[in-house]
Amino acid sequence: MYTDYQKHLGQIISEIKEAGLYKNERIIVSPQGAEIELDSGQKVLNFCANNYLGLSNNSKLIEAAKKALDDHGYGMSSVRFICGTTDLHKELERKIADFFGTEDTILYAACFDANGGVFEPLLTEEDAIISDALNHASIIDGVRLCKAQRYRYNNADMEDLERQLQLAEKQRFRLIVTDGVFSMDGNVAPLDRIASLAEKYNAMVMVDESHSAGVVGKTGRGVTELYNLKGKIEIITGTLGKAFGGAIGGFTTGKKEIVELLRQRSRPYLFSNSIPPLVAAAGIKMVDMMTETNDLQDKLHRNSEYFIEKMTGLGFDIKPTRSAICAVMLYDAKLSQDFAARLLDEGIYVIGFYYPVVPKGQARIRVQLSAAHEIEHLDKAIKAFGKIGRELNVIK
Ligand SMILES: *Cc1c(COP(=O)(O)O)cnc(C)c1O
Repeated sequence: MYTDYQKHLGQIISEIKEAGLYKNERIIVSPQGAEIELDSGQKVLNFCANNYLGLSNNSKLIEAAKKALDDHGYGMSSVRFICGTTDLHKELERKIADFFGTEDTILYAACFDANGGVFEPLLTEEDAIISDALNHASIIDGVRLCKAQRYRYNNADMEDLERQLQLAEKQRFRLIVTDGVFSMDGNVAPLDRIASLAEKYNAMVMVDESHSAGVVGKTGRGVTELYNLKGKIEIITGTLGKAFGGAIGGFTTGKKEIVELLRQRSRPYLFSNSIPPLVAAAGIKMVDMMTETNDLQDKLHRNSEYFIEKMTGLGFDIKPTRSAICAVMLYDAKLSQDFAARLLDEGIYVIGFYYPVVPKGQARIRVQLSAAHEIEHLDKAIKAFGKIGRELNVIK
C-alpha cells in the first residue's frame, strides 16, 4: 500500500519543486534579533522576522520567564478548564483586556487556534460572516468550520463590503471579519469605515490584530487605537508570537459574553493544552512594559519612516503602508528571488514573495522593520538595496 502512496507523494513534491514553490528552512543558531547567525556561520541583519518591538530576546522577558519556571514549573499537562489555569494565565488575560480596552480575554495556544475556534461557537447557519478576501489562513479555516453563510469582499473595498452586507441582510446576525494589517502589502484595514458600515447594516466587527498589535497606533494598541475605536469592536484576536515577545500563544479579547461563551464551547480552548506559565509570565511583563513607556513603539515608528523615506528617495516603488511591513515592489517573480539572494550575500536577510502568495505580476521583497534595528542596520540595508537595485536595473 505505502509504495503507491509514496510514489503519489513524490509526484506532488516534485510538482511543488518544479513550480519553484518548495520551501526550505534557514537554520539560525543565535537568539532572534536584529543580527542573527546562520548555521553556515554567516551573520546577517534580519529584516524578515515579526519581531516588531525587538522583544524576542528581551532580558526583562527572559528574567520573568525564568522566575516563572522556578515558581510555577515547566508545563501544565492539562487544558484550561481541567487543571491548566494558573494565576499567571488569569492575570495575563486581564492585562490583555486592559491593554486593548476590552472587557475580557481568553488565551489560546496560538492565534491560529483563536481564529479557528471563534466562529463556530458564536454563529449558526442563520447568521452571516462577511470576510475580507485577503484575511489570514486561520480566519479562512475558522470560517470553514462554522455553519454561518459566507460572504467575501475584495480587500479593503468598502463598496464591495456594502454590497455583501446588503446580501447578508436576510440573515439573523452579521459579523464582519478583517485583518488589522494585511501581511503582504502592510496596508491597514479601513476600520473607521468598516465600523460605520457595521452600524448602518446592524453588524458586528472582528479584527485580527496579529500584525498591528504593538505596532499600529500611537501607543501600539493596534488598529482600534488608530481609528479611535477602542472598546467599540466586539471581537479582537491577536498573537503573542509577533510583536508581543514572539514566543507562542494567542488570544481573543472583546465583549464579556462572547468570551464567556468561548470558554464553554471553543474547541481549541477545550481540547488543547494551556500555554506554559513561563510564557504567561513573560506576557504579563510585556504588557507592563508597554504600559510604562512608549519607547519601543516610538523607535519602531521612527525606523519605519526612516527606511521608507530613504528607499523612496532611491527610487524604489514602495506600497503605501501604515505598519512595520514595507513591500518593495519588483513585479517580476524571478527578479524578486535574485534580488533577495543577492541581498543575503550582502548580509541582509529578506524574503521575496511571488505568485501564488501575492497576485501574478506583483512580486516583491517584504521588509519588516523592528525596534531592534539601529540606524546603522537600516543604513546598511538601504545601501545594499541601492547597490543591487542599480545592478539589476530596478533603480537608476
Ligand atoms: C501570524 C498570524 C496569525 C497566527 O498567529 P499564531 O499565533 O502564530 O498562530 C493569525 N492571524 C494573523 C493575521 C497573523 O498574521
